[in-house]
Amino acid sequence: MTDGTLAVYAPLAWFGSGRMVRDAAVVVSGDEVVFAGAAGAAPGAEQVIELDGFLMPAAADRHVHIGAVDPAVVLAGGVTAVRDMGWTPDEIFSLADASEMPTFNGPLIRAAGPILTEKGGYPFATRWAPEGTGREVADPEAAVATVHQLAHKGAAHIKVALNTEDGPTVSDATLAAITQTAGELGLPVAVHAQGPGQAERALGAGVSELAHTPWTDRLPDSTLEAMAKTLRIVSTLDIQSYGRDTPEIRTALDNLRRFAQAGGRVLYGTDLGHGDIPPGIHVRELLLMREAGLGVEQVLEALIRSPLEEGAPADILGLAENPFERFDAFGELIMVLRAGRIAVATASDE
Ligand SMILES: [Zn+2]
Repeated sequence: MTDGTLAVYAPLAWFGSGRMVRDAAVVVSGDEVVFAGAAGAAPGAEQVIELDGFLMPAAADRHVHIGAVDPAVVLAGGVTAVRDMGWTPDEIFSLADASEMPTFNGPLIRAAGPILTEKGGYPFATRWAPEGTGREVADPEAAVATVHQLAHKGAAHIKVALNTEDGPTVSDATLAAITQTAGELGLPVAVHAQGPGQAERALGAGVSELAHTPWTDRLPDSTLEAMAKTLRIVSTLDIQSYGRDTPEIRTALDNLRRFAQAGGRVLYGTDLGHGDIPPGIHVRELLLMREAGLGVEQVLEALIRSPLEEGAPADILGLAENPFERFDAFGELIMVLRAGRIAVATASDE
């Protein structure tokens, strides 16, 4: 292939909220979209793909531990960008740097580095991640220094554990120092909230995100309405049940349903690499989001990295079928484009 322009034509496309287009085309130049619209209006391109299927933006998984899986399989499964939510910094920041290179066979990786926690707190007491995945912050001064250090190393966001079921948690003063310092540096703060009252603590501290849909207790409507105004929730529903019926999934679905009804922003995330989750777009996670009351378009909005429009990253999927008609269409990918490069193609390539 050339590193010039590439046009993808499809009989039907969804570019983003409210933008379903028949006889559509997307033209990319290098790693960027330069046109997304009606095929008749598309500029010429050096290379053309006629997609016999449905075209849409590629997926982002906003909660992974990519060091535990094969990035190539994640990309082949339609996920072109991931956010790593906790890993040993020496490994993850260099992997994130490598993911920027055209030669990297995997999704673009944005990483938090280690999970900030209290001495002996989560994830120290659990054994799922390598040493270095937790970073003790003893007091507000240590919190300020640690957040600055992580930002310097390339952290794209900050992850904090508020998990009273697996050890002690940081003090409110330390939590405040983390959120304030991260805010000054322009870094979102994502919290693992587990145990009674911890999601409320995260809300009170003004964090940007809950890294999981709260599952330990049913939150009051008023709490979810307040959350809907100030933070996002990363879904990670399937890790509560793996296809079974559990009290945890019932509580999580109940919370997410009311959060979304209140206008809260839901993001697709699976906890890939920690939970026993298959790499690539995980259809059961999407089905659970539907069960939480999200419409098909809402699920797609939560799933995609970015709408397809001029200036957007050239990350595009081809599906064999239209997901608005057959929701499990994500199980049959016929094209994956990341940064303008073809990762998967079963369509004809002229
Ligand atoms: Zn996780």
